[in-house]
Amino acid sequence: MILGHEICGRVEAFASGAPKVDANGDAIEVGSRITWAVTVGCNECLMCQRGLHQKCEHLFKYGHMRVTDEDPLSGGLASHIILRKNTTVFALPEALSDDLATLANCSTATIVAVLKAAGEIQGRSVLVFGGGILGVTACSMAKSQGAVRIDVVEPNPANHTRVLSFGADAIIDPSAISPNYDAVFELSGSQIAASAAVKAPRIGGTVVFAGTVAPVGQIELDPEQIVRRLVTIKGVHNYHPFDLGDAVGFLAGAGQSYPFAELIGPVFALSEVNSAVKAAPDCSGQRILIQP
Ligand SMILES: [Zn+2]
Ligand SMILES: [Zn+2]
Repeated sequence: MILGHEICGRVEAFASGAPKVDANGDAIEVGSRITWAVTVGCNECLMCQRGLHQKCEHLFKYGHMRVTDEDPLSGGLASHIILRKNTTVFALPEALSDDLATLANCSTATIVAVLKAAGEIQGRSVLVFGGGILGVTACSMAKSQGAVRIDVVEPNPANHTRVLSFGADAIIDPSAISPNYDAVFELSGSQIAASAAVKAPRIGGTVVFAGTVAPVGQIELDPEQIVRRLVTIKGVHNYHPFDLGDAVGFLAGAGQSYPFAELIGPVFALSEVNSAVKAAPDCSGQRILIQP
């Protein structure tokens, strides 16, 4: 398996019949800088028909698949990758560097999906659990969409300054949460945060879970409160391929007002990839960059 799904590239060649336009209909040619959605759906199964391409019954995921004769190059930690049929591709605008573009097809697109799941953000109050890469991306995107209040729960004081520089209004203590948020985003993956998240929405509010991608155990839910307070709870996993287009637009546009470059950590050559993996635990809250 060739790992690596937070990637961008430059077109080297087209297979015969491969489309020479991106998902927006913009032309791409040999030499074009592009990014592409991490998941590829079949466009035919029940999930794809329902618009849940990211949960296709025959899902393909770059950086997550065994090497096969059909897909010999399907991960980011390589000099070359072969994009398979139905891949959702977006040309990268000049304004977006390769370094920042690598964020687009994972964390940024995921947060696009999270904000869409919450509905209207303009004029709304937002609570974010987790001040890592997902959390700060959520703060900046919510701010740019007109959120009037953004609070963040982030236990590590070392992350607080950065969280505030991405548009958050305040870091708050979990014990100080009152149920008056229109949108609540659980991005930390912690059971404690998940428990607090379901108690934080105001009447009519929405809780979106995207952090708990591994089992964290059960949480308590008061069904009477869900009913009486008209609360919506949603999950987001594997953003929809079209969310990537919005992610690219954000990073190249409104996102330029925020210090996304600070999320990029040390740079390693592809030949040093094992050292990069060893260095990763010391680079919490940053992405290590591999340059082929
Ligand atoms: Zn499908
Ligand atoms: Zn990722």
